[in-house]
Amino acid sequence: MNLLEMTFKEVSQLLYNGFGRGDYHAGALLREVIKRGNHNFSTAPEFERSQGMSLALVSDYELPDFTVVDQMEEDNTVKFVTRLHDGCSIESVIIPMKQYNTLCVSTQAGCRMGCRFCETARSGFKRNLQVHEITGQLFSARNTLGKKISNIVFMGMGEPFDNFDNLVRSIRVFNDQKGFDVAFRHMTVSTCGLVPGIRALAGLGLTQLSLAVSVHSAIDEVRSVLMPVNRRYPLNVLRAALADYPLHKRRYILVEYVLIKGVNDSQEAAAALVQYLVPLKVRVNLIAYNPGRDPDPEFQGVDDCSMNQFASWLEDSGLFVIKRWSKGQKLMAGCGQLSTRT
Ligand code: SF4
Repeated sequence: MNLLEMTFKEVSQLLYNGFGRGDYHAGALLREVIKRGNHNFSTAPEFERSQGMSLALVSDYELPDFTVVDQMEEDNTVKFVTRLHDGCSIESVIIPMKQYNTLCVSTQAGCRMGCRFCETARSGFKRNLQVHEITGQLFSARNTLGKKISNIVFMGMGEPFDNFDNLVRSIRVFNDQKGFDVAFRHMTVSTCGLVPGIRALAGLGLTQLSLAVSVHSAIDEVRSVLMPVNRRYPLNVLRAALADYPLHKRRYILVEYVLIKGVNDSQEAAAALVQYLVPLKVRVNLIAYNPGRDPDPEFQGVDDCSMNQFASWLEDSGLFVIKRWSKGQKLMAGCGQLSTRT
């Protein structure tokens, strides 16, 4: 029994099938383990008069098989490293916002999408994360590091749609009110543009969930160099999937655009982006490129002036723009800087 992979209904069903019990004990079990981080759940009052079941559950209970082995903090942004059972390392980042903390979770150890500017891509692909390894990052952030987290962004290491089934299962486990209790509207899935994944997520009808898409250039030749995924799913194919995506009436697609000096920061690039986004309901996140550990000499970040100039070109055309000077650059926790090589 691995509670990091189960919803309340499933736990309740398991207790019913095995012991003729149900919601009362399932709620207690999730409260002790998921909300309080107490693996010694059999001491909870609900189990006092159910010692037979308690013993059986304890022997069937799987402790999380991962460990937080390192954590670093800068400006209240915390990056932590988790060592998995097979020696793989993954990174997660806790980002302070005005009223709450957001946890950026990884869905893969490494990534096979090969984006040119990305530190994760350079460290190669190891494997998909299992559901409990994804949800375990929130478990650790809350119960090991003691942080209050109310938002989740699937924006850490890996392409979430490349691990689709485990992603969707993790979303459902995160959302469980008796367990992690993160509202769908407080979760964002970020993709580099894997169109089948966008369409598959759309088919689930989770319209409260936010979708973020890394565009980085609205010119196919440039985007294909930055992001090999564009050769499989070029810009027009991506835009058709985004146009079809079922959005809740007050929600937008977040377009991520990492500004790289001399590559995608010109007025022509801004005009192409405006034209590309015209039919879509979007907000644009502009992010200054973060050079990684061994940065590609072709790529450099932009200064504040260039960032402001690019933003004003977009805003003059009516786009809503959010400028993000990445938090946590020094501790390599900024966008595109997570790595399995820690
Ligand atoms: S930017 Fe995202 S999708 Fe692209 S290689 Fe890095 S982790 Fe993978």
